[in-house]
Amino acid sequence: MRTSETVPPKQMPTVLVFGGHDPSGGAGIAADISTLLALGCHPIVVITAITIQNTKRLLRYRLLEPGLIAAQAGALLEDTAIAACKTGMLGSAAIVATVADAVTALSTVPLVVDPVLRAGAGGPLGEPDLVAALQTSLLPRATLATPNIDECRALTSSAEPEQAATKLMARGCKNVLVTGTHAPTPEVVHRLYLASSQVPRMSQWPRLNGVYHGSGCTLATAVTAYLARGEAMADAVNHALDYTWQSLRQAYRAGSGQSIPKRLWRMHGVEP
Ligand code: PLP
Repeated sequence: MRTSETVPPKQMPTVLVFGGHDPSGGAGIAADISTLLALGCHPIVVITAITIQNTKRLLRYRLLEPGLIAAQAGALLEDTAIAACKTGMLGSAAIVATVADAVTALSTVPLVVDPVLRAGAGGPLGEPDLVAALQTSLLPRATLATPNIDECRALTSSAEPEQAATKLMARGCKNVLVTGTHAPTPEVVHRLYLASSQVPRMSQWPRLNGVYHGSGCTLATAVTAYLARGEAMADAVNHALDYTWQSLRQAYRAGSGQSIPKRLWRMHGVEP
């Protein structure tokens, strides 16, 4: 009989996330952790902010001191082999600088930057200096950025996906996924601009009726999970779009406002 000492330790790809806490369980690190576990990755999480919100509205947020964020990241980086990294709500230029500094130690692993600027329920999730810091310090290091149309407008002064992607890539961001949920089109069209191709890859999905809390977080983290598992960018994005669409299609109501994506749908069985 094998004793526990003789069983080799199992490993899951570890994904490092920087993001804020949304107590409603819809967005932020709750979304990141559940998505990563659903997709077979181990989440390690550096909290950047606490938000006070529910599924209806954002009341306020409190950013953590950059020193606390650097200390959380330092403790993880000295201990853990990281397969991929994702950033969500960062909130201020000082936190962007801290995170950009921490990820220099991870220059060989994929970095997915979800440029979170506002809460799904409305209201800013950052200070006025956030946009410029994302533009200059973090997006140039990103393997993939996942802006929606509103974030494209804020970050590049263009809501036209191709122009926005070109501007982000000119700054150094390698690949850009412009998500189409916020565009007023009957179907949702996502566009992936790859460093390796002149032609964008379009992905079209039936528009779902609901209003969801944490759909952007779920998608960006799902891409990160598939990258951590070794997939190429185009495959990782396709698989993440499919996983996210299924999570939204089966979303449930926890509060009286936006629906929560059912990120563990594979564990609970797919609903017809
Ligand atoms: N991160 C945090 C902590 C949030 O509270 C939110 C929205 O409320 C987001 C990210 C972005 O959420 P979404 O995926 O809906 O864009």
